[in-house]
Amino acid sequence: MRLDEILKRIEAAKAGAGEVQLVAVSKNVGTDEVRELYSQGQIAFGENRVQELKRKSELLRELPLKWHFIGTLQSNKINQLIALRPTLWQSCNSCELALAVNKRLNYPLDTLLEINAAGESSKTGLDKNRAVEEFLRIKQECKNLNLIGVMSIGAHVSEPAQIARSFEATREIFDALVPHGARICSMGMSDDFELAIKCGSNMIRLGRILYA
Ligand SMILES: *Cc1c(COP(=O)(O)O)cnc(C)c1O
Repeated sequence: MRLDEILKRIEAAKAGAGEVQLVAVSKNVGTDEVRELYSQGQIAFGENRVQELKRKSELLRELPLKWHFIGTLQSNKINQLIALRPTLWQSCNSCELALAVNKRLNYPLDTLLEINAAGESSKTGLDKNRAVEEFLRIKQECKNLNLIGVMSIGAHVSEPAQIARSFEATREIFDALVPHGARICSMGMSDDFELAIKCGSNMIRLGRILYA
């Protein structure tokens, strides 16, 4: 689907509410698709593997793109990710990992805490009942991590009410963290981004729908 059509759908879903940023997830496409979206005005892109983030960002070095890391970070890839200076690390999913990254950082890295709001065992992310406490602990202990919000993947079910509940749970955590510096609530993917926006998302991560 063309980018301008997606932007219209985002505009309609937010119904006058504040800004919603779009991160184009490029993990399953090549650099041609990234260039095509860039030519339509898209700047922010997301990858879920450090190696692929490195590869694409190097191949596309001449474009002023902003890269987001959205995948599980293996501890043996921490240095590589840091060297790539991503715009936003969206997937900090444990205090241990936060400490490990913090220790090696020599610049402030904008970071989101990933929350397993649906409580699904197949998903990474912090338990929603501990998310606020862990956010505050990481903020306190990891001075090089600039914790600016939360990220979550909606419940993997077909029932919209249940997906909405997982987004609302994330939104409640986000609201509780706003006084502590949270300003990004990243939730919503190709199948559920309009619902996520209605539940208060201000950053969506779209993959498949952009290339369909
Ligand atoms: C792949 C991925 C997306 C995009 O998913 P689509 O369903 O293709 O829109 C968003 N967020 C994360 C963390 C992903 O891994």
